[in-house]
Amino acid sequence: MDARLEAIRDTVLARNPGEAEFHQAVTEVFESLGPVHDRHPEFLEAAILERLCEPERQIIFRVPWTDDAGRVQINRGFRVEFNSALGPYKGGLRFHPSVYLGIVKFLGFEQIFKNALTGMPIGGGKGGSDFDPRGRSDAEVMRFCQSFMTELYRHIGEYTDVPAGDIGVGGREIGYLFGQYKRITNRYESGVLTGKGISWGGSLVRPEATGFGTVIFTQEMLKTRGTSFEGQRVVVSGSGNVAIHAIAKAQALGATVVACSDSSGYIVDEAGIDVGLLREVKEVERGRLKDYAGRRGGVAYVGGGTVWDVDATVALPCATQNELDGDAAARLVRGGLLAVGEGANMPSTREAVAVFQEAGVLFGPGKAANAGGVATSALEMQQNASRDSWSFEHTEERLTEIMVGIHHRCASTADEYGDPGNYVLGANIGGFVKVADAMLAQGLI
Ligand code: NDP
Repeated sequence: MDARLEAIRDTVLARNPGEAEFHQAVTEVFESLGPVHDRHPEFLEAAILERLCEPERQIIFRVPWTDDAGRVQINRGFRVEFNSALGPYKGGLRFHPSVYLGIVKFLGFEQIFKNALTGMPIGGGKGGSDFDPRGRSDAEVMRFCQSFMTELYRHIGEYTDVPAGDIGVGGREIGYLFGQYKRITNRYESGVLTGKGISWGGSLVRPEATGFGTVIFTQEMLKTRGTSFEGQRVVVSGSGNVAIHAIAKAQALGATVVACSDSSGYIVDEAGIDVGLLREVKEVERGRLKDYAGRRGGVAYVGGGTVWDVDATVALPCATQNELDGDAAARLVRGGLLAVGEGANMPSTREAVAVFQEAGVLFGPGKAANAGGVATSALEMQQNASRDSWSFEHTEERLTEIMVGIHHRCASTADEYGDPGNYVLGANIGGFVKVADAMLAQGLI
């Protein structure tokens, strides 16, 4: 890392102790930015990096609610409004027991660059809670969401901060959150949340967008080597929103997706995953992958372990951060891996990324490859602002244009900075320069 940037990075780490994921995300971005500061010393003079690493606002709040047995439960809620140089803060809410400030800040920090890469007018933010919706009744999830929004509503708005879903937050949770926002504010402010249902302000393609977009980005990378998804053997991690739609899109493009996972284990389905059955089990019944294996013949279910033990030519990590380490990466490379498209945020450890890059594997980092979700959220905001709703075909066409554009921006930036094919460099520099220019123009705030 450039020595000037390393000193700033060390200060950021010391100011934010105990936030390992945030440290990792900051370090990974700083490693790319040396050459930008050679060309633009004004960024250093204006302390752009120091300002970027300090969120504009951080909100932490108590979320009290009662469970079905009448017991009082207390969770912690977070919203980190990281950077609004390009537009209102935008980024999802994560409900998972692992959530703490360091995770919310890593996700919010990544979101700044991701949102810049989409070319849409959106800043970066993220939020969530250590609440675990798994195993909770609909009534419990509703009471939790209502309590969460009773504090959050005063900090958000269509021109201020626009949350959406993430792990543990899907259409059901967005519905309860929106209902409570509307009730407290007495405003039908559709643009305050994205990921809404189709009949009440949502956008077609939003549920599919992150997974579809990841596959579209990966397809663009494959094209640079004269190939495509046709005939590829694909392994996907996770079996939630992003994973399901990545599987569907990869198979639509002619690949066979042979494995996917949840936090209990993974399945190997050599015939290609049956997306209809997977959706039935995961989305309708809110069941586990074990149930999928029980219902479909010829499928192996492996409890525990890692899905990255299954050989693939294309890997799409779509579960969570740091789920693919250096050893797993080396195994995948030995098994003939050609490309990785990150559907999740920071799923590959820094060691894994180094293994992929050294082996010449095409590697699309999450902040570029999974940006289709937030981009389609911005399309949802456009539809809300114009009181319009677009067809599936039109929206998917826009998503495709945006993903192809992001690929082009990353690839051409990597070329411009003398490291062709380095999508990590391209994404970090491409996103950073846009935000830094806007921050310079807006003065010292
Ligand atoms: P979901 O909650 O729908 O699905 C998450 C999936 O990952 C589940 O299969 C879950 O398994 C698995 N998982 C979660 N945590 C762990 C863990 N600690 N270890 C192993 N498996 C785990 O979330 P999404 O699909 O929405 O999000 C997945 C990833 O994509 C996240 O990194 C998210 O930040 C990122 N992302 C999501 C976007 C979106 O639009 N939803 C946009 C951009 C990025 P189990 O059911 O057992 O918990």
